Amino acid sequence: MNRRLIGVLGGTFDPIHRGHTELAHDAVRALGLDQLRCVPAGNPAHRPMPVASATDRLALVRLAFADQPGCVIDDVEIRQPGPSWTILTLERLRAACPDAALVLIVGADAFLGLPGWHRWQELISLAHIAVANRPGSDLDILAMPAPLKDVFQTHHVTDVSALKRHTAGCIVSFTMTPCTVSATQIRSALRQGQPIHGLVATSVENYIRRHHLYT
Ligand code: ATP
Repeated sequence: MNRRLIGVLGGTFDPIHRGHTELAHDAVRALGLDQLRCVPAGNPAHRPMPVASATDRLALVRLAFADQPGCVIDDVEIRQPGPSWTILTLERLRAACPDAALVLIVGADAFLGLPGWHRWQELISLAHIAVANRPGSDLDILAMPAPLKDVFQTHHVTDVSALKRHTAGCIVSFTMTPCTVSATQIRSALRQGQPIHGLVATSVENYIRRHHLYT
């Protein structure tokens, strides 16, 4: 069956940068996604509160993806009070699109941290998981904690066409264009008055400067 393949890219995006947009772009290409939903976290429960407000982070995400066809910015986690749990976002999407294949897109670093996520073992029953090899943290089975290794070994497939045959339940990995940028690096550069040109889209940089973010 040729299901609609919907990618879900969550993150704090504090701020959104080239690594995120490359990840989205390469996921669309490597996995053959029909739609990519970018979901900024409102109040990320498993990490410190973002530095920029949810309103600013959302505005930056909209600017960064303005010319990416097939990309939808989903503000559900920002509109909802309380912690942003990915599992709830996937439950909502699953209810809205029962026949679609959902693919949670994560960098290898985020994948290794999955056991810290709320109800993490249920994620794979709601969506596939696509792991991008991120420079410095390629997917390494030896680095996985035992429960994650079990889930990985049970669900890992090498053929990405399997994603369209099932609504959820496969783990795939894909190689993305190496991009070493991180939001931490950008916040630190801005605090120190260093340039960030090339690390974020020009429209994103203009917004950051206009609103004096991260200084
Ligand atoms: P921070 O430096 O504040 O921890 P970050 O740059 O890692 O932030 P997040 O918003 O935490 O950005 O990341 C959202 C998702 O994007 C995660 O799955 C993460 O692995 C992925 N990601 C972030 N930066 C890159 C990059 N340079 N290359 C590939 N994936 C990335």
